[in-house]
Amino acid sequence: MKSAFFALAAFGLSFLSPAAQADEDPSWSAPHEPYRIVDNIWYVGTQGIGVYLITTNQGHMLIDGATEDGAAVVEANIKTLGFDLKDIKYIVETHAHYDHVGGLARLKASTGAELVASIPDRPALEAGAHDGDNTNGPATFPAVKVDRIVGEGGTITLADSTLMARLTPGHTKGATSWTMTVLDNGQPRRVMFVSSMTVAGNVLVDNKAYPHIVRDYRIAFDRLETIDVDILLTSHPSVANMEAKYLKQKTIKYPEDKAQPFVDPTEFPRFVAQSRAAFEAELARQESARK
Ligand SMILES: [Zn+2]
Repeated sequence: MKSAFFALAAFGLSFLSPAAQADEDPSWSAPHEPYRIVDNIWYVGTQGIGVYLITTNQGHMLIDGATEDGAAVVEANIKTLGFDLKDIKYIVETHAHYDHVGGLARLKASTGAELVASIPDRPALEAGAHDGDNTNGPATFPAVKVDRIVGEGGTITLADSTLMARLTPGHTKGATSWTMTVLDNGQPRRVMFVSSMTVAGNVLVDNKAYPHIVRDYRIAFDRLETIDVDILLTSHPSVANMEAKYLKQKTIKYPEDKAQPFVDPTEFPRFVAQSRAAFEAELARQESARK
């Protein structure tokens, strides 16, 4: 990532902020080259945190904002691609954890965009802290005001791009996955921007601040199992092996070349099954630890 580092150094950015939390993975705020994934969807995140830009001729939409420090990487990436921060009309979030929404306060200010979130994630976003009993503690971030609420099946549209909210709670109370359809060489592809589905320190047994957490996780897995996905894009790019796909894509001429490394309809069902199995195993572990 040397070239990306020097490109960002030219913007005069500093990645050493005192706000960094002790348990923060350095890759979450480290620069990564921005790139086109498919059609009008661009990767503008950091090395470790997925942030996605959807561009249209009526303005753009941004999914998540990385960490507080990572927001500078996101801004630089958007500019490197030749887009204007002020053309971003909506920012949507996948879940109110500091590694994904810590940068939203800064990004809202630099873009002037409206922040869109589900009702159950709103209190955490506006308080700047994880909501619910978690062994990692409250994991704070700069609080950010929500401007617009979406529920299950709610949509955000600019030009001919529509993001649909699929509520996938559990990881956070209002965790939201987003779907949209793009054209890949004229071929429609169903894209899923999935929220994190891991347990990630959540207390699953007797969670006082989130009593129905287990029921919510299972609702989310049931819901995701009904959705067909051609392109899986994850909150942490490593979960969908995005770096390998990106490097493979660099070797082909997209979109002229028909091979599209990001298209794999078998990947999402595997992701859901593995996430569900990991959740049930952790629930069983926590239940037996209580006895
Ligand atoms: Zn998370």
